[in-house]
Amino acid sequence: MWPVAGILPLLTEMAKSSAAPASNLSTRIGEACIGLGLISPDDRWIDVNPYLCDLLGYSRDELLGLNRAAVTEAEDLAQETSRLEAVRRGTEKSAQIEQRYRTRGGSSVWVNVLVAPEKPDSAGAVNLVVVVQDVAAPRAGLRAVGIQHLVSRLLLDPGPSEQKPRGILEAAAVALGSSYAAFWAVDAGENTIHAAHTWSRPGASVSEFDRQTRAAVFRRGEGMVGLAWQSGRPFWESDMAGHNAYPRSAAARQSGLHSAFLFPIRTARAFFGVMEFFGDDAAPPDQALLEAAEGAGYQLGEYLEKGRATAARIESDIVRASIVDVALDCIITSDHRGIITEFNPAAEATFGYTKEQVLGRPMVDLIIPPSLREQHLRGMERYLQTGEARVLGRRIEITGMRADGSEFPVELAIVRVPVEGPPLFTAYLRDLTDRKKIEGEQAFLLRASEQLASSLDYETTIESIAQLAVPSIADWCAVDVIERDRSIKRVAVAHKDPAKVAFVHALRERYPENLESPYGVPRVLRTGEPEMLRDIPDSMLREAARDAEHLAILQGLGLKSYLIVPLKVRGTNFGALTLAFAESGRRFEERDLDLATELARRIGTAIENARLLQESEEGRHELEQQAAEMEIQAMEMEHTQDQMELTNRELQTVNQSLEEKTAEAGAALKQAEEANRAKSDFLATMSHELRTPLNAISGYADLLSMGIRGPINDAQRADLDRINRSQAHLLGIINDILKFAKLESGQLEMRIEIFPINAALELAEELVRPQLEAKKIDYRYLAGDQAVTVRSDRDRFQQIILNLLANAAKFTPEAGTVTVSWEARGEQVLIHVADTGIGIPADQLDRIFDPFVQVDASTTRKSEGVGLGLAISRDLARQMGGDVSVTSRTGKGSTFTLALPRGG
Ligand code: ADP
Repeated sequence: MWPVAGILPLLTEMAKSSAAPASNLSTRIGEACIGLGLISPDDRWIDVNPYLCDLLGYSRDELLGLNRAAVTEAEDLAQETSRLEAVRRGTEKSAQIEQRYRTRGGSSVWVNVLVAPEKPDSAGAVNLVVVVQDVAAPRAGLRAVGIQHLVSRLLLDPGPSEQKPRGILEAAAVALGSSYAAFWAVDAGENTIHAAHTWSRPGASVSEFDRQTRAAVFRRGEGMVGLAWQSGRPFWESDMAGHNAYPRSAAARQSGLHSAFLFPIRTARAFFGVMEFFGDDAAPPDQALLEAAEGAGYQLGEYLEKGRATAARIESDIVRASIVDVALDCIITSDHRGIITEFNPAAEATFGYTKEQVLGRPMVDLIIPPSLREQHLRGMERYLQTGEARVLGRRIEITGMRADGSEFPVELAIVRVPVEGPPLFTAYLRDLTDRKKIEGEQAFLLRASEQLASSLDYETTIESIAQLAVPSIADWCAVDVIERDRSIKRVAVAHKDPAKVAFVHALRERYPENLESPYGVPRVLRTGEPEMLRDIPDSMLREAARDAEHLAILQGLGLKSYLIVPLKVRGTNFGALTLAFAESGRRFEERDLDLATELARRIGTAIENARLLQESEEGRHELEQQAAEMEIQAMEMEHTQDQMELTNRELQTVNQSLEEKTAEAGAALKQAEEANRAKSDFLATMSHELRTPLNAISGYADLLSMGIRGPINDAQRADLDRINRSQAHLLGIINDILKFAKLESGQLEMRIEIFPINAALELAEELVRPQLEAKKIDYRYLAGDQAVTVRSDRDRFQQIILNLLANAAKFTPEAGTVTVSWEARGEQVLIHVADTGIGIPADQLDRIFDPFVQVDASTTRKSEGVGLGLAISRDLARQMGGDVSVTSRTGKGSTFTLALPRGG
């Protein structure tokens, strides 16, 4: 990341320089080993360097003219647009954006993009210079600086110039962690190139590769070396053993060499050779290294070109050479008195002086902080007197001072320029502010990630993150979240002074957040856009304050600078992270937004992960429960199945016994039916057999009483009458039995018809009249509605009525009353036969309808009969859809009711 930050001053310089024609920029862009491009005011790529083309997988022609939106990853476009617009408007001098580009092949690459305005053309439209660096390997930058330092140092060290390439080869091979390295020197005729020096890491088994390398002679364009020679540019092969593109591929495979890195040693005028390094593992191109190596190659080339010229001249040539001008490092040369003799553009940008301001002035006063000056001067003196150097030739980290007096960390390497006479020193310095900051930020993010991963309770975690943020990245840190009711809840506030935290909490209680506020947390929550204010103006506090006291408190907090980023989960805002500077006097810069955004993104991801984890835990738990339940169910089912089998067996048994019983019952029924039929047959036969002699008895009795057999006396006549009466009685009984038997066996035929009640009743009355008159019974007939008809068998109807009337007459003493009446009720007709006779005891009322039942033997004897009349009557009535019922009071009389279906 930080090599890019180093390029910014250069670009700014280029943009500032009105003398630099556009073509100059274009040339420089073409040569750089970092992605460089120009974006037109209408957002088209109008210049791109080969590196950028390679990075994005497009050819130059394909990329030129493409809209920015076609290359930037859709999700990052809005952010990029807003930053670019700010640069175009001039509200930001430059912008550094970490974002993704989409390659032609559709994959995403994370890049660090640095944007600065080119010098406006006459029309005032601004092209944007874009510096693109692949951020996949930020560490790689260190190697790049390493090689640059190394080459500078080795060149400036005393020693014969012929030995320099070898020294550099070996030192670089060690520094790069190579297993094998070679320096290829161009032969005298400049037609071929051969390995002049080779080096292998002690213990590396690369003998075959070394043999082939030493034996090889390549032409331009032949093998990797030939390609580097032909192009004159550094070359990277991720895995030369992975294919057979090069003459030594097979040997590389055999020797376990994979990645290869080559850079040419050249100047603009001459080509000397190629440095070649091999690594054990396949590795993607290290762009920063390629870039740095190009410069280093030129540096070495310049050195070799000058041959045996004095080191002093070489040094000044180098200083003047373009490499010094475009070097990422500050290069400052001073004489033995500490007077500055050279100050390159990087030094100007870093320290804030122009070259003119510093040349001829003592270095100690300009770039060394007061606290270190004494030490520096003493060291210098000691070296000059004794030759003992503590600093020389080593890389150290130290504090530098800018023109405005601010101090910052630098990495420093000082070499002595080996000239005759008083010594010259060259210092290579690099501003470590960004690196320190990034390292600090990386460390912070790492700790934050650890914290986030340590708990699933996000409120606690956020609280601890806020604690972590102060004071390393801010003086204040607060986290607000949106509640369900859309209100804003402050879940964490952190400051190094707990009393201030409590105070801020109380302040918030007293002056709740204004949800409509056009800036601050409410705005960020509303829009999802981050907000940053480098300097908080007093006017803003005045605007935000509710009253004079509030204003005094806000001013008292001394907030200087703040930034707020939204917290999102799956694209939805759920809160905001606020960072503020107060007493430290620090200010947020544009790039701090990146850190805060990254932190917010990690918080969001952690919460999302926690949620997913919790869900999966719950899911797992649920599944386990379900599995347990299913097991129980399975067990229950097994049990149920057992039971069912048992029940089934029981049911089968029951069924079987039921079948048996049904069969038995069927047999019993059949038997009963048979018995019944046998009884009926017997009764029918018996009646018939009895009636024949009975008829004969009455016939002969009549013959005798008529005196046909001779005269009879009165006594004889009376006897014959008795015989006749007994015969009639017996015949009646037999007829009844016969009827009952027929009824029971269902042999009785019915002829149902509808007829008026009146006529049928009158006929019955006639039949019993002699009986009624004999007992002087008052017979009353209360005719009902003449239109009412009954649905019945006419003969059976009469038989029932006759039976009821006969009974009434039979059981009613002399001078009693028998009343017949009828009524229609609903679908029925009720015919009542009421008497004022002896009545029936309540406990006998049901029984009298049973066959052969008579209430009282004494009365029965008096009144004759066998107890079948009522049984027959009820059976007949029921067979015709009706019934016979009785109400009675002993001594008062009885009322029998015949119910039959109404005719209509
Ligand atoms: P039977 O009249 O031939 O004895 P029934 O079946 O007609 O047989 O009557 C059964 C018995 O019911 C009678 O013996 C008598 O005890 C009683 N009974 C029937 N009708 C009357 C009535 N109107 N008043 C009092 N008792 C009656």
